[in-house]
Amino acid sequence: MGIKVCKFGGTSLATATNILKVKDIINAEESRKFVVVSAPGKRYSEDIKITDLLYQCAKAAREEGSCKKVFALIKERFITIATELKVDLDIESVLAKTEEQIDLYKTDDFAASRGEYLNAIIISKALGFPFVDAAEVVKFDTEGKLDLEYTNDQLRRVLKKLKCAVVPGFYGKMPDETIKTFSRGGSDITGSLVARAVNAEVYENWTDVNGFMTADPRLIKNPKTIKSLGYHELRELSYMGASVLHAEAIFPVKMSGIPINIKNTFEPENPGTMIIPDEEYNGNGQIVTGIAGKKNFSIIHIEKSMMNSIIGFGRKILSVLERYGVSFEHIPSGIDTLSIVIESKALENGIKEKIITRIREAVEPDAISVTDNISLIATVGYGMCNVIGTSSRLFSAIGKKGINIVMIDQGSSEMNIIVGVSNDDYERTIEAIYNEFIGKEN
Ligand code: ASP
Repeated sequence: MGIKVCKFGGTSLATATNILKVKDIINAEESRKFVVVSAPGKRYSEDIKITDLLYQCAKAAREEGSCKKVFALIKERFITIATELKVDLDIESVLAKTEEQIDLYKTDDFAASRGEYLNAIIISKALGFPFVDAAEVVKFDTEGKLDLEYTNDQLRRVLKKLKCAVVPGFYGKMPDETIKTFSRGGSDITGSLVARAVNAEVYENWTDVNGFMTADPRLIKNPKTIKSLGYHELRELSYMGASVLHAEAIFPVKMSGIPINIKNTFEPENPGTMIIPDEEYNGNGQIVTGIAGKKNFSIIHIEKSMMNSIIGFGRKILSVLERYGVSFEHIPSGIDTLSIVIESKALENGIKEKIITRIREAVEPDAISVTDNISLIATVGYGMCNVIGTSSRLFSAIGKKGINIVMIDQGSSEMNIIVGVSNDDYERTIEAIYNEFIGKEN
């Protein structure tokens, strides 16, 4: 029988009632042996996530010498959860020690990691599964990058000895023994690491929606759910802002070709979204799988006659970006023109002006200008490959709404068309593409 690794997000673990639902899910299938947990999330929309409270604790510890006031709220939540679950655990003393440590270490990373740590201890008791501290198995290198192979070996070694376990997500240890977290939402990465280490049949990622949406539900009312998609499509969509799964969570499972199943804790019967290794994926019968986008990019336009025959032109421009530590997203080019698309945030604090001056010095362009407030929107679909007329449908759907397209980029995989539009047109563009390819029957 294959093993399933189950990662549960913050909403799924926000209250004792929800944790009991999680327990039912685990008990429903014997193959669900390894459980990775987030910290308790929001119970209602104005509620504050435990992780956010913990960041406040670290700040208070640094600035006031004690996190007592904010920690009281955290204490209350964990005590309620532990009491309602009737777990055999002296939660008060675990919490007292944690408070002391937050005051002592004062770092954001240590404090934030305690949400997952405490929740995993409680849930391991509730399930009767052993607790494995992520600090013992997830390691970062001196530069703070995940040490993927060491972590895999370590996890494999520890988990091999156990029939089942609960592992807190989100954090690991640095070589100097201090605690470090992934970026926000990083428990998804821990789940993926565990799935790879135990060679799981599937990595189940349990959340509070019925899977990956075809578009952002804040922009499109009740968007359809994606039933299945390939790893590559997932990368394109999550990189461009579609949330549900952390953008980096795919890499560990990808190495072993393990599928990811996004499932809803509050509707466990729903099949959710299946994310399939590219080698086994032949599309999902749709032309467009999903649409995602991000606001606030800048485009640097550079014009110079005969640019295409000048050797080293591109390199000289890119070295300027490198010198200022700025990465670029796309470089669409024409015969005498080259545009560089960059996140506007990277050009703040005078960097933009400096880069322009240096590019002028480096390549003496005929003209150089910058357009700000650009949104990028990616239309992603394996089904777009080799289908004639997809781009014309896309552009005319946008054109019909009177929206000006500032930039177009089609990846050579033909699986992704990116358009740049003004920030003001962001929502309308997504809506136009959605209605053309997904909303109406096609
Ligand atoms: N609790 C952390 C966060 O809120 C990590 C996670 O849930 O994955 O970002």
